[in-house]
Amino acid sequence: MPKTGIVYLIGAGPGDPGLITVRGLELLRCADVVVYDRLIAPSLLREARPDAEQVYVGKAVSHHTLPQCEINALLVDRARRGQSVARLKGGDPFVFGRGGEEALALAAARIRFEIVPGVTSAIAVPAYAGIPVTHRSTASTVTFITGHEDTHRSETGVDWATISAVKGTLVFLMGVTNLPTIVKELIENGRPSDTPVAIVERGTTAQQRVIAGTLADIHERARAARLLPPAITIVGEVVTLGAILGAWSATRLLSLGSEE
Ligand code: SAH
Repeated sequence: MPKTGIVYLIGAGPGDPGLITVRGLELLRCADVVVYDRLIAPSLLREARPDAEQVYVGKAVSHHTLPQCEINALLVDRARRGQSVARLKGGDPFVFGRGGEEALALAAARIRFEIVPGVTSAIAVPAYAGIPVTHRSTASTVTFITGHEDTHRSETGVDWATISAVKGTLVFLMGVTNLPTIVKELIENGRPSDTPVAIVERGTTAQQRVIAGTLADIHERARAARLLPPAITIVGEVVTLGAILGAWSATRLLSLGSEE
């Protein structure tokens, strides 16, 4: 009987290698093959077996290393050879990570798989900057939004009127390139231009940078700071807490210097 393969879709966390789950690390250490993305902490790869095959399939905006269909085919192929595959994905595999597509492809190919949820950057990156995404008196909802619009799509997938009307926190992923559009749409749809905004670049890593401002000036501030992806944009009153909590929190950014 040939060994049957399996794919583990593992959330590797947002950058700090300490934020992978116990289950994720256990599976990573046993896998025959590791398939990983661009935002994976390099030190996590050293946890793989020395003889494990490592395949980089990372993507950056407009530099697709491997099209999604080829990533899916790779996972299916290795599992069909009877191998165990650790598919390491940044943050949580099912939060804007196309993990759903990979799971569907595996299900269609009748390959066994396991989902290992991860610590999503949408919550952890604001947290490392001292920003709680909800707060009892100021934000009782939080909305995660993709700031990256597919340029080939004629209609926007984001309902700006609806998200602008909700009083709570907005968290944009993949929003750096589209920051001017995000700001313009929110203001045009009724969010006051003095609404606090923070952008956190390379959050939870030793290179973390935080730029704070308002809807009126955040674009200019981000430009002046030459902000680059990956970054998370947080819009709402909770941002003001970052000034207090960010300064006092003992979050372990300083000890991460050797990880990159
Ligand atoms: N599945 C991932 C998100 C993938 S989309 C998750 O759950 O975190 C990629 C986007 O995530 C980036 O464009 C950026 O907006 C955000 N991101 C991921 N890691 C980040 C980090 N360390 N700092 C800031 N933003 C990050």
